[in-house]
Amino acid sequence: MNKVLTISNLEKSFHTRDGEIKALESVSFDVKEKEFISIVGPSGCGKSTILSILAGLEEKSNGEINFSKDYTIGYMLQNDSLFEWRTVLDNCLLGLEINKKLTKENKEYVIHLLKTYGLEDFMEEYPARLSGGMRQRVALIRTLATKPDILLLDEAMSALDYQSRLAISDDIFRIIKREGKTAIMVTHDIAEAISMSDRIVVLSKRPAIVKKIYDIKLSNKSTPIHNRKCKEFSEFYDAIWRDLDVHIQ
Ligand code: ADP
Ligand code: MG
Repeated sequence: MNKVLTISNLEKSFHTRDGEIKALESVSFDVKEKEFISIVGPSGCGKSTILSILAGLEEKSNGEINFSKDYTIGYMLQNDSLFEWRTVLDNCLLGLEINKKLTKENKEYVIHLLKTYGLEDFMEEYPARLSGGMRQRVALIRTLATKPDILLLDEAMSALDYQSRLAISDDIFRIIKREGKTAIMVTHDIAEAISMSDRIVVLSKRPAIVKKIYDIKLSNKSTPIHNRKCKEFSEFYDAIWRDLDVHIQ
């Protein structure tokens, strides 16, 4: 598979009033086309910082980020940040409006996505009428509306209860695969990462280095909910849990 992105020795320090905070010590990994990569690591280790740098919202302090082409990026956050006063359809059209790309074709693409992913009857409703899982699906469709090549997902499911999270992980996974996107997801949920990813990058505590990269090979790999039942699942879980070295005090 073609490489989409290579990150080499990425470093990031924040300069604050209380001095320098080194978030990333040295982070290196690559991402291949249509791959689903998860980044896991302890809270505060620099996971979101990596996505912010990839999205161009933060400057790196050092290191190299090489995209193999001029890719467009979509960013989906934990908080779905839907506007309550806009209908579901109008929320999904927001990115196109902002980018002045609200053409007839693009609007049709958004309507097609809403229909394909079970939101046809809710297009003219306001977000308050939707469940948490549906809102998250709307947020994903809004992110897909501008047809980004690479999707960045930052704890996109964390705000949901456990049951909804399992269901929406399956939905999000299916949509990303069917639309043929490359995805980089940050999560602190090891099981979520194993169930969805091709590879997992495990970070150390801050300042982050890459501790390990796992190739998630499961027998009969299919959808995230199904993948949780694979026999290798618990072995990956135990190994990553040990890497994260979580101490309960
Ligand atoms: P994670 O997503 O892994 O929980 P973050 O990437 O959000 O961690 O943050 C890593 C570290 O960098 C934290 O100590 C955080 O407080 C600090 N940090 C993140 N963004 C900023 C910022 N804009 N200014 C100062 N410090 C920041
Ligand atoms: Mg974060």
